[in-house]
Amino acid sequence: MKAIGVTRDGDEPEILDVERPEPSAGEALVRTLRVGVDGTDHEVIAGAHGGYPEGADHMILGHEAVGVVEDGNGSGLDAGDVVVPTVRRKPDGETNDYFRRGEPDMAPEGEYVERGIVGGHGFMSEYFTSPADTLVPIPEELAEYGMLVEPLSIAEKANEHAFNTRAPFEWRPESACVLGNGSLGLLTLWMLDQQFDRTYCLGRRDRPDPTIDVMDEVGATYVDSRETPVEEIPDEYEAMDYIFEATGFAPHAVGTVHALAPNGVGALLGIPGPWEFEIDGGTLHKEIVLHNKALIGTVNSHVKHFEAAVDTLESMPEWLLDDLVTTVTAPDDVAPAFDDGDHQMKGVVEFDSL
Ligand code: NAP
Ligand code: BGC
Ligand code: ZN
Repeated sequence: MKAIGVTRDGDEPEILDVERPEPSAGEALVRTLRVGVDGTDHEVIAGAHGGYPEGADHMILGHEAVGVVEDGNGSGLDAGDVVVPTVRRKPDGETNDYFRRGEPDMAPEGEYVERGIVGGHGFMSEYFTSPADTLVPIPEELAEYGMLVEPLSIAEKANEHAFNTRAPFEWRPESACVLGNGSLGLLTLWMLDQQFDRTYCLGRRDRPDPTIDVMDEVGATYVDSRETPVEEIPDEYEAMDYIFEATGFAPHAVGTVHALAPNGVGALLGIPGPWEFEIDGGTLHKEIVLHNKALIGTVNSHVKHFEAAVDTLESMPEWLLDDLVTTVTAPDDVAPAFDDGDHQMKGVVEFDSL
C-alpha cells in the first residue's frame, strides 16, 4: 500500500510502498480518509524533533488522522465506524501507570512512542491498525474535517490544565491572546473567542494575509510581533488573563510572563530547540510571585480531550473550516500539502473518502 514517510537518507516526505498492516488482537484495521500536516511534522522532517522507530530506515508520517474502520477484528468497533486515532502508544512490550490510567499524555519522555513523531509509524498510509481504545469514534458528518480533532484536542488539554491552575480563587478572565498564527494557534483562537470577551492573535506578517483574515473574521485583534514584542502587549493593548503560546519561539516563554495580567496564566506549547538569550531572571521571578501568575507547559492529549474536541469541531462554523483547510492533495503528489508558505494553514493528504 501507499504511505508517505521520511527516510534516513532523504530530507523531504516521499511516497513509500509498504505492506498493509494486519490487526493484532484488540486492534482494528482502519482505512485512512485524511491526514493533516502541522508545524510538528515540519520539525520531524527537519530532524529537529522526534525520531525513527527502532531499527527502521523510514518513518511513516502523520499524527492528525481520520479514517473508517475496515475490519473491527472483534475489538468492539464495527466496520464503517468513523474514527480518529490518538497519538501516544506504549513502547513495545512495556506498560506503565500513565497508560493504565488513560493519561499517556502525562508520561515522561522515554515512556511512550508517538505515532508519526517519536519512534512509531504514523497514519499517513492507505491503512493503519490501532488498539480500539485509541480510536475515538466521531459522527460520520464530521469525517471531512476529522483530521482537526487531534490538534483541537491539544488545545482542549492545554486550556483545561491552564484554567485549573486558577480554580482555587474567583478568576474572572476577559482577555486572551494566542501567540502564533499557525493551524494550532488559529484553531485555538476560535475556541478562546467563544469564552473570552476580547481575543488577540500574534503573528509577524503583513496584510493581506489569509491568517490575518481569519483573525478578523473571528473578531480577534491582530498583534504584529515586529511592532509589538510580546512583553510590550500590555502597553500597546492590554495585559492578558490568558496566553496560549503556539509559536515555538523560545523568547515568547519569557514574554508571556510579562504580558500576563495579575492572576493570569500562560500555557506554553511550542517545541523549540536549544536557544540562548539574555533574560532578567530576577524581575521574571518577582513578576510571577507578586502577581500570582502561572506558566504551564503542556503536550499531547488523551481520549477525554479528543471527545471534547469532537464537540468543539461540531460547533465550528463551516466558513472557518473551509478557510483553514487550504490544501487537499492525493498521496501521489503530497508536496503541496507540506508546502508551508504563507498561503497555507492546514495542508491535508486525502487517501479516500466515505
Ligand atoms: P506552525 O504552523 O509552524 O505555526 C507557528 C506560527 O508561529 C507560524 O505561523 C509563525 O509565523 C508564527 N511565529 C513564529 N515565530 C514568531 C514570532 N517571533 N512572532 C510572531 N509569530 C511567530 O506550527 P503549529 O502547527 O501551529 O504549531 C505551533 C507550535 O506548537 C509548533 O512549535 C509545534 O511543534 C507545537 N505543537 C505543540 C503541541 C503540543 O502538544 N505541545 C501540539 C501541536 C503543535 P510565520 O508562518 O509567519 O513564520
Ligand atoms: C502533536 C502531539 C505531540 C506533540 C509533541 C504535536 O504536534 O499534536 O500529539 O505530543 O506534537 O511531539
Ligand atoms: Zn500536532
